[in-house]
Amino acid sequence: MKLRNKCYIYLGISGITSILLCVLACLVYYPVLKESGLVFVSPQHGFKPFFIPALLLVCGEVSLIFLISKVFCKLTVNRIRELNLYLQATVNGKDMKFAKERHNDELSELRRSIVEVYRKMVISRGELENSYQQLAETNQKLESNYIQSYNLQLIQEEISRELDIDQLVKKTADIIMGLFGSKRCLIYMADEEKELLVAKAFSGSMGKDAPRKSISFNSNNIIARSWRDKLIFTEKDAKPEELAELHKRNINSILTVPLIGRQGGVGIMVLEHGLAGGISNDSVKFARIVAQELSLSVENAYLYDKMRRMAIRDALTGVYNRLYLMTYMADIFNNNPETVSVLLFDMDHFKQINDKYGHLAGDMVLKTAANLIQNMLPSGILARYGGEEFVIVLPEVNEADAFQFANSIRQIVGHHRFTTPEGDFVSVTISIGLANYPLVSDNYEKLLQLADEALYEAKNSGRNRVCVAKPKKRRNEKKSTNA
Ligand code: GH3
Ligand code: MG
Ligand code: MG
Repeated sequence: MKLRNKCYIYLGISGITSILLCVLACLVYYPVLKESGLVFVSPQHGFKPFFIPALLLVCGEVSLIFLISKVFCKLTVNRIRELNLYLQATVNGKDMKFAKERHNDELSELRRSIVEVYRKMVISRGELENSYQQLAETNQKLESNYIQSYNLQLIQEEISRELDIDQLVKKTADIIMGLFGSKRCLIYMADEEKELLVAKAFSGSMGKDAPRKSISFNSNNIIARSWRDKLIFTEKDAKPEELAELHKRNINSILTVPLIGRQGGVGIMVLEHGLAGGISNDSVKFARIVAQELSLSVENAYLYDKMRRMAIRDALTGVYNRLYLMTYMADIFNNNPETVSVLLFDMDHFKQINDKYGHLAGDMVLKTAANLIQNMLPSGILARYGGEEFVIVLPEVNEADAFQFANSIRQIVGHHRFTTPEGDFVSVTISIGLANYPLVSDNYEKLLQLADEALYEAKNSGRNRVCVAKPKKRRNEKKSTNA
């Protein structure tokens, strides 16, 4: 029976006993008191003195309750103490004599409580483990986000400074390979004229199993589709036959990220991984950010390249301008060359072409002639010196070879039939002055001046010929050829 119930029973018994004792005392004492006139209430005299018997009764009652309580307490407290000692001994692993059957109620109550506490502890532990798991996941995410943003910062620093497109895409491909641990990374650049995606850079193994290095804009390839749709594709977007082809090449994951700049698409980044699921969702997000950075950097590099070209090239003919010519010659002469030949040539009677066919036709002749000669250059550069005058610098080409080359360009230009915008055919000849270092001068400015003098001589001696500047000692001798 439960201790609490026992307690109620004890209290009930003591209460009922007290009441019974009171009734009994009244019954026993009433005749005596009545006899002696010590009744509680008398109809004639009102209250009669009853102090002594009442006191006796109360004392008896109190003593009785005290006695019962003491017995109860002793029994109860002793049981609790006994149980407490037993529990302490059990906790400390000691052996103790204990009549368990006497405490069945308390023990089963205790057991139930312990089981309940344990159950709650298990639930709390589960909740705690869940919270810990969530915390660990958040921590991991934070850490990977931090690593990603750190890597991104490194990439930004690395590629935003790079203005050479080839270097830029090569660096990015290497970084991407390192970060993604992929099998290979290719960066295709768009060639708008040829409508081709051309692999400008790649990292990783590029054996027989590598993808094609140039892909037509219109092909049905996953890379071309991703480029056309301006969408990121993975192996999930591959057609069954493409997937089969990828598996054949031991590629189980692929990611194609179009590079889109401010002016439109500039190329596409392709990542291939040997493992299935090798490219996670986080990697896709990261690749997208890297692609954005790369697109802007590529555009900047294109712009820079265009500006640089504009600064050193002639707008009409596309050959180098005079500014670049002087820098180039200064560089050549700083490197102590053994020999340098300079050709200065001018179109003969060019004014007449302008007058007869118009300025546009003259422009076209200049452009075509420059293009013809540019394609014949064995080394060095062709630069527009001004008007319809051009300079060819031939480092490490001696006077004799330069003379031969000068004659061949004279003949090629002279025999060419230039077409005007109106469809007329025009012919033009050129006169050339040649000066060689170290034969006539050891200074490149002087060399140009001597080539100009030789050109003047070619003009004066009938045009369409090559005249060579003479060494000081040969100054009075003449050397010239004509057609
Ligand atoms: P010469 O044989 O003595 O050199 O006769 P020329 O008529 O060529 O005379 P000159 O070299 O002095 O004339 C240069 C002409 O070239 C004058 C100019 O109209 C023309 N010219 C110069 N630059 C350009 C150009 O960019 N486009 C066109 N269409 N003509 C040019
Ligand atoms: Mg001329
Ligand atoms: Mg001229």
